[in-house]
Amino acid sequence: MVVVTKVRVCPKCGSDKIRAVKTSVSGWLLPNQYYCEEEGCGYSGTLYVEIEVEEVEQLKRVMNGDSKEST
Ligand SMILES: [Zn+2]
Repeated sequence: MVVVTKVRVCPKCGSDKIRAVKTSVSGWLLPNQYYCEEEGCGYSGTLYVEIEVEEVEQLKRVMNGDSKEST
C-alpha cells in the first residue's frame, strides 16, 4: 500500500512554512486562516496549496524562477 504524503504549502512563495490559524468568534466556526512564516512573504488567507512531498522542491525551483538544470 502506497501512502502519498501531502503537505500544505504557501500559494505565494511555495514555502512549507505555512501555518493554520484556527479562528473562532463567539462560537462561530470560521474557515481556517493560514499564514506563511517565510521571511519576506507574509502571506495570509484562507487558501493553501496541497501538494505531494516530493513536489515541494520542484515547486520551489519553479517559483524561484530557477529552471536551469546544471549539466
Ligand atoms: Zn509564503
